[in-house]
Amino acid sequence: MRIPLNDDQLKTVKLALSTLATEDISREKPVAEIMERIENCEKEFKDKGLRQYAKAAQKRQRDGEIEIDDDAVVSKGEDAGAYVGAWLWVGDDELEEKEDEEACRECGKKYATCGDGYDGMCPDCADKAEDKK
Ligand SMILES: [Zn+2]
Repeated sequence: MRIPLNDDQLKTVKLALSTLATEDISREKPVAEIMERIENCEKEFKDKGLRQYAKAAQKRQRDGEIEIDDDAVVSKGEDAGAYVGAWLWVGDDELEEKEDEEACRECGKKYATCGDGYDGMCPDCADKAEDKK
C-alpha cells in the first residue's frame, strides 16, 4: 500500500505517533517500528543513487500510457539494476468484465444489459431472433 503524504502531513503523522508513544507505554514498540519504516522511506526518497533509476525510467514514459513519478518507489535488485514503480494506463475496454455487461448467449459478444438486448442476447441477435418469428 502506498499513501502519498506531503511534508506537512508527514510531520503531523510523526508528531501524532510520538505523542501516542509517550501517552501509552504499550504503544512504544509499534510506534518505534512505524517510525523506523517512515525514516527508511524518507532515506530512500532522498537517496540520489536510487533517484537516478527513477529519472532513467522517466525516459521510457509514454504520455497517457506509462508514467513515472519523480518520487516513484525504487527497489534495487540483486543484479545491476532496480525496479521502478510506474503508472500504467488501463482503459475500460481492457477489463475482462464490466459490471453492466453480459456475454450474448448466441454470439458471445459483450453487450450492455441496460441496452436493447433481450433474453440473454445482444441487440443484433435479439433482432435476428425477432425476424425469424
Ligand atoms: Zn449476439
